[in-house]
Amino acid sequence: MSVPKHTSDFLVKRFLNQNREIIKNKLPINDPSTQRARDAKKKILMKKAKEYLPYRLEYLAKLYGYQFNICRLTHANTRWGSCSSNKTISLNIGLMNIPEVLRDYVIIHELAHLNHMDHSDAFWSEVGIHDPNYREHRKKLKMFNPGV
Ligand SMILES: [Zn+2]
Repeated sequence: MSVPKHTSDFLVKRFLNQNREIIKNKLPINDPSTQRARDAKKKILMKKAKEYLPYRLEYLAKLYGYQFNICRLTHANTRWGSCSSNKTISLNIGLMNIPEVLRDYVIIHELAHLNHMDHSDAFWSEVGIHDPNYREHRKKLKMFNPGV
């Protein structure tokens, strides 16, 4: 039995044509140019964040009478900020991509954690003193993703 010489090429081509959309959708994950673009975007965001977030944190801390230890910038995918028991406040550089009022809510939220390391009623009422619309801001924040 003989098989035409170009059968395998033909099959490969047909497979590629039939699955072009699927393949195209899968490629960018490992595409180095996409990765490079993402890295460049992150670098720009980090620069913007460095020039803004530590100063905004300091400003709001002074305004509302809080004392924190260190401000760290992060790019975690799941959280906008955190506050540790040694008074280190971490802020996600993705905050630079959301409206200022929500950014301030996150900072106020983390500052309030300096006095309450939980999400108790006492914690929320302290957040409410500095951001009376915190409920609305908290809800709106869920429409954004902290991942960069
Ligand atoms: Zn919290």
